[in-house]
Amino acid sequence: MESVTVVGAGIVGVCIAHALAGRPGTAVTLVDAALPTGATSRAGMAWLNASAKRPRDYFELNFAGVREYHALHRRLRPDWIHLTGSIADEGHTPQLSGRIDELVGWGYRAERWTGEDVARNLDGAVAVRRPHELFAHYPDEGWIDVAAALPDLLARAAEGEFRYLFGSAVTALDTDGRGFDVTLADGTHWRADQLVNAAGPGADRVAGLLGRELPLAPTRGLVLRLHAPGVRLGKVLLGAAATIRPDGPDHYRVHSHALDALMGRSPAVDRRELVAELVVRAARQVPGLARARVVAEHSGVRPVPADSFSSIGRVETIPGYVEAVTHSGVTLGALVGRLVADIVLLDEVSPLLTPRFRPDRFTRGVVAGPAPPPG
Ligand SMILES: Cc1cc2nc3c(=O)[nH]c(=O)nc-3n(C[C@H](O)[C@H](O)[C@H](O)COP(=O)(O)OP(=O)(O)OC[C@H]3O[C@@H](n4cnc5c(N)ncnc54)[C@H](O)[C@@H]3O)c2cc1C
Repeated sequence: MESVTVVGAGIVGVCIAHALAGRPGTAVTLVDAALPTGATSRAGMAWLNASAKRPRDYFELNFAGVREYHALHRRLRPDWIHLTGSIADEGHTPQLSGRIDELVGWGYRAERWTGEDVARNLDGAVAVRRPHELFAHYPDEGWIDVAAALPDLLARAAEGEFRYLFGSAVTALDTDGRGFDVTLADGTHWRADQLVNAAGPGADRVAGLLGRELPLAPTRGLVLRLHAPGVRLGKVLLGAAATIRPDGPDHYRVHSHALDALMGRSPAVDRRELVAELVVRAARQVPGLARARVVAEHSGVRPVPADSFSSIGRVETIPGYVEAVTHSGVTLGALVGRLVADIVLLDEVSPLLTPRFRPDRFTRGVVAGPAPPPG
């Protein structure tokens, strides 16, 4: 029996634990410092997409991530995968027409919609400037209800050889090259054959416990949950002013990259001003949201490796250690779960994990990359 410890029970760690627990001959321990777990995963927009991803190999990874949820949806029919499709306007995606052509050329379903199509298909919910304004429709995208996904995947994992320990942080890790001694803040300790670091924005500190330097460039983001009865928006909307998506009956989530950029500014921008501005921006896209009530403010920290790309796989110098740290972790979660299980149990590395995503690139020194890709 191979014993595997997964550190971090956000969407990435839970998907990995779920995939591992479903394989024979594996005993999985999932640990998390917090309760509830998955701070970042619960805080984000959880937009399932590849349309916003570049360069090509990062797009392909995310495209496979989208397909993985479609397969999961067909297999398990969970109520937390919402394959609604999404639409983007020209303000959100520069050179939208060319991008649609590029995505179609890459085998992605991307359709040209006019303002009239948007008005008709979305019951007039979205502000349309001109009847012939160009929109992109991505029918295979959608959103994930992370708060519902986590307990469901944990319950499914529990059908295998699986235990979880939540509420105490991993504070010490020792390795003799043949396994790991794992110690929690409350003194609990055990031995694991292999260790997966899926600790999100805390992954650099977990790596540090093994003497590994994992450089992160985390960014903070603000997402609001709005209550807006009477508004009918059935798809994810990517607009110039804000991104908006359904979040259960009569509720919506809204986000703006432009406002996130103000969060780290000095002197600090008043949080109440940001919240008010985000509602104004949302109402510019979906006028019915002008009367919405803010029911929750989520502030999350994106776990972005320093060159902005995912770090997924083994580290040559630490036998048995696997990293799974990424932005777009919701889109990638289900796929990363399966790919990491293949690495841990079969030593098989998917061709989707090109050298750009290999953790060992940091062992050789970091080259500063472009700004993190959007959600
Ligand atoms: C504003 C915003 C919008 C976003 N929008 C999208 C989007 O639209 N689509 C998308 O795909 N992604 C989006 N993301 C990114 C996505 O949310 C993250 O990539 C993803 O949630 C990362 O998941 P995770 O499981 O790695 O991290 P987390 O959810 O943070 O989970 C990590 C867990 O590790 C635990 N942990 C940390 N250190 C320790 C330790 N020492 N011991 C034990 N446990 C530990 C933490 O308690 C935590 O529960 C967004 C993020 C933000 C902030």
